[in-house]
Amino acid sequence: MRSWQFNHIDFSIYPYYGGDDLGVHYSPEALQIKVWAPTARQVELKIYARSAGGRAIRHEQLELAANGVWELRLEGDFKGLFYTIRVNDGEWLAETPGIEARAVGINGKRALIFDPQETNPEGWENDQPIVLDSPVDAVLYELHVRDFSKSPASGMEHKGQFLAFTEQETQTPDGLASGIGHLKELGITHVHLLPVFDFFTVDENHPDEKYNWGYDPLNYNTPEGSYASNPDDTSRITEFKRLVQSLHAVGIGVVMDVVYNHTGYTRRSYLNQTVPGYYYRQNRNGNFSNASGCGNEIASERAMARKYIIDSLKYWASEFHLDGFRFDLMGIHDVETMNAIRQELDQLRPGILLYGEGWAADYSPMDENYRAVKRNVKKLKGIACFNDDMRDAIKGNNFEAKNRGFVNGRTLNEEAVKFGVVAACYHPKIVYSYVESSREAWAKEPWQCVNYVSCHDNFTLFDKLKQSCPKATDDQLRKMQKLAFALILTSQGIPFIHAGSEFCRSKNGEHNSYKSDDRINQIDWTLKSGYQDVFEYTRKLIALRTNVGAFRMRSADDIRKHLHFSKNYEPGVLAYSILDYPNPFGWKTIQLVFNARQEATTMQLDEHNWQVVARDDEIELEGIDCLLDKQVSVPPLSMMILVKND
Ligand code: CA
Repeated sequence: MRSWQFNHIDFSIYPYYGGDDLGVHYSPEALQIKVWAPTARQVELKIYARSAGGRAIRHEQLELAANGVWELRLEGDFKGLFYTIRVNDGEWLAETPGIEARAVGINGKRALIFDPQETNPEGWENDQPIVLDSPVDAVLYELHVRDFSKSPASGMEHKGQFLAFTEQETQTPDGLASGIGHLKELGITHVHLLPVFDFFTVDENHPDEKYNWGYDPLNYNTPEGSYASNPDDTSRITEFKRLVQSLHAVGIGVVMDVVYNHTGYTRRSYLNQTVPGYYYRQNRNGNFSNASGCGNEIASERAMARKYIIDSLKYWASEFHLDGFRFDLMGIHDVETMNAIRQELDQLRPGILLYGEGWAADYSPMDENYRAVKRNVKKLKGIACFNDDMRDAIKGNNFEAKNRGFVNGRTLNEEAVKFGVVAACYHPKIVYSYVESSREAWAKEPWQCVNYVSCHDNFTLFDKLKQSCPKATDDQLRKMQKLAFALILTSQGIPFIHAGSEFCRSKNGEHNSYKSDDRINQIDWTLKSGYQDVFEYTRKLIALRTNVGAFRMRSADDIRKHLHFSKNYEPGVLAYSILDYPNPFGWKTIQLVFNARQEATTMQLDEHNWQVVARDDEIELEGIDCLLDKQVSVPPLSMMILVKND
């Protein structure tokens, strides 16, 4: 029996190969095969007629070249056939599709020999990525491919598939826009998709039998087959491109959730069956360490692991025209790798959005000082972290159902909300000792902070509000939801919303639905008419943000210069003004008040002649009302915005 302990191995002496030609590359004349396997004594390639079963029709040995690379040139046209790679490093390891595979057969066990040119949909050459002036101009919308269309009420035909995103003018049962029309109506700038690379839990032969979010990577460089109309050919590639093309056509960018921090399998993973131990960190005793909580963690700092991640990202960004990447458990990756990613992607195309979870799920043997955790965001170049401080400040602790935050009735919590309003940047008028989670600003600039109140993890916002406020009326819950969005969408930084929360998505109180069935996870499109007021309000908030640059300041210096918190303190009320920030409306002062109390609050103003721009459900840039008094009543559980031209 082989040992899976690696404490006797110095991985740093493994040779580095810098070429961009690893993997299997097709031409009608020949196959070019290159595999980095420095510990191998033999490497073999088998070619099969089918993606599963049957005997190999070719069985070839690769030759060792330089830098740990094994290679082979195989004359002939092999398009449409499948292959596996097998390494012998003293004993034979498992057959795999190779770690570079860009097309695979059903369930990702054998790689498919294909011509990439043939996977481009019609008009693909005209498809353009979405480029923003600054990351803070983004409005991110986090969505699971299957959840989007799976419900019978979705109005979409290709349920659970990439192609649902290409269906135009689909409707909810009440005749409202669903699908891509809904996204356009809402006004978001980017769809952030939960994993779409090939993951293993869902059987691609029977996709309806199991559900999974997809944080169980199998093949990093090919799309998931259960989202394709045929998981056994190149449909998964073409159809994912069609999804991107369709969203780009309506001006919406696509961000891909990437999970380079761990693999679904550990010993059996394709990485480990190619170069045992190399791609993973180990504990002192030589076993796989587990900062992901999923049985392993990728050693991103090792030269060929770093290169593997970078090459993979470059492939997705260039081949699929993607507009950004969200790094799952980014706090596992080392800072140096994350900065190298930014640099290499910038060379490919500037402006690709990069952000991630600035934490790990468990202990890592790598010192936190070297990892891309939230408090190290200042060491990262052009990469943002999720602001969990703001998330919990608004609605209460993410994990405790009953715990409350600002919008659902907790007072003395205003400093923590202010922390998020300025995108986790330093502001002299915040009392940091009152901010329970982070006691100091962790962002240096607003584009380093993704503000959110809920995501796919934990309770949906509406479920959380319900459980923390069991006596609240439906009307109060709606108001809390709106107030939460008002905070997220007027705050500095990059706003992020969880798909369906714009019409009060529920998972029936389920707090971890990663493998729950479709009934829990799918977006229930009938809610759009049931919670049309919440949807309309969210839509107006996004339009407000898009139109008013003051909510998207470019620098922390600008925020400190223009954003002034109110000196008057009233529990459950947060007020601040933005002064002299350039805008096309001639506004000199923008005054915002967030009243989280159950009753109206009165605010004293120093002068009259204010225009009311937002009050209750209304938001009108031209003004709803003119104030002739020096005091204003702010309705319960709502945001009010007043502006003044002098
Ligand atoms: Ca799969």
